[in-house]
Amino acid sequence: MGWKEIKNMYCLRCGMEYAAGDFFKGCPRCLAEGKPASVSFQYHPSGLHQAPSDELLPYNDRPYAGEGQTPHIYHSSLSDTYKVEIWFKNEGQNPTGSHKDRMSPYIVQRAIEAGFTTVASASSGNAGASLAAYAAMAGMKGVILTTRGINPIWKQAIEKTEATIIWKDYPMERWAHMKEEVEKGNWYPATNFMNPPVGSNPFGVQGLKSIAFEIIEDMEKLPGVIVIPTSRGDLLWGIWEGFKQAYDRQVISELPRLLAVEPFARLQAVRHGASYIGNFEGNAAETPSVAGTTVTYQSVKALQESGGEAVVVPTERAEAEQQELAEAGIYAERSSSLVLGALKQARRTGMVQEGEKVLLLLSSNGYKELLV
Ligand SMILES: [Zn+2]
Repeated sequence: MGWKEIKNMYCLRCGMEYAAGDFFKGCPRCLAEGKPASVSFQYHPSGLHQAPSDELLPYNDRPYAGEGQTPHIYHSSLSDTYKVEIWFKNEGQNPTGSHKDRMSPYIVQRAIEAGFTTVASASSGNAGASLAAYAAMAGMKGVILTTRGINPIWKQAIEKTEATIIWKDYPMERWAHMKEEVEKGNWYPATNFMNPPVGSNPFGVQGLKSIAFEIIEDMEKLPGVIVIPTSRGDLLWGIWEGFKQAYDRQVISELPRLLAVEPFARLQAVRHGASYIGNFEGNAAETPSVAGTTVTYQSVKALQESGGEAVVVPTERAEAEQQELAEAGIYAERSSSLVLGALKQARRTGMVQEGEKVLLLLSSNGYKELLV
């Protein structure tokens, strides 16, 4: 077992503890109640004041393609314009150009350990391109379920790895097909296949904690606010859990507020009283990486615990936000560019105060996206 540091797993919602293993459908007890929720990992206690790193991640040995250690970039002119201290963390600098490269190594490693030869992802693009690359690196078969709307650049990148692409007319059909193959024991899943959904594979979500660890390691003064593009909240939860684990070790004494950016009200509706089990319709045509009509429990919990909020920046704004960032020298995918719109809105409403230190998380770079 490569995961010797793991004490057990626990449910984010009910706290039930489980022996370490795979929980593709989240917590069995919460699922039986009709309230699906992800599980996460508890590690054996280790030294206080010790900066967290690999010992709080599931595997030390894993496929490595140069992911992580993305830079933190201070932007002086945007800081002047919006009267806050603006920093970017550019996940577009990962090997396949998105934060998904922090997830794929752990998913592939776990699949190998569990005896699988095929890993599968239901993806609009970034997750599929990343998993296909890491599967290829580890000599595994990749299967990517996607829709015709996938960006041609992502499609090309996936095809080059010799992964199989399975085409579906609707996003939910990807989940049904994946569920069938996973239940037969044929595929190891990287992403959710349940409706209502849970987060992506917990081993993958763990990998996202390294974003928090790097911020803690590199930044002398932590940002008070982190703005995160959000679909089903893997990034939101992974970053939050990383900060919490550092806090528990007394490495940091304050925790940031998280602002989740979405193209239409889903998480925001839940924050205003709607059940997280539901279908939320809206337009995300310009921003496929943050599309989807569902909310996960992990997103709700990350916002609640951090005292954060969900901010809606309509998908129609993505082009203008991307343009403004590009004119400031930062070329991000449209879905990621919504973070700038969220910051502007948060300044207008007072959610972010003058002079605050804000980190905008860019999940993917603009070169990945061919606008057709
Ligand atoms: Zn539970």
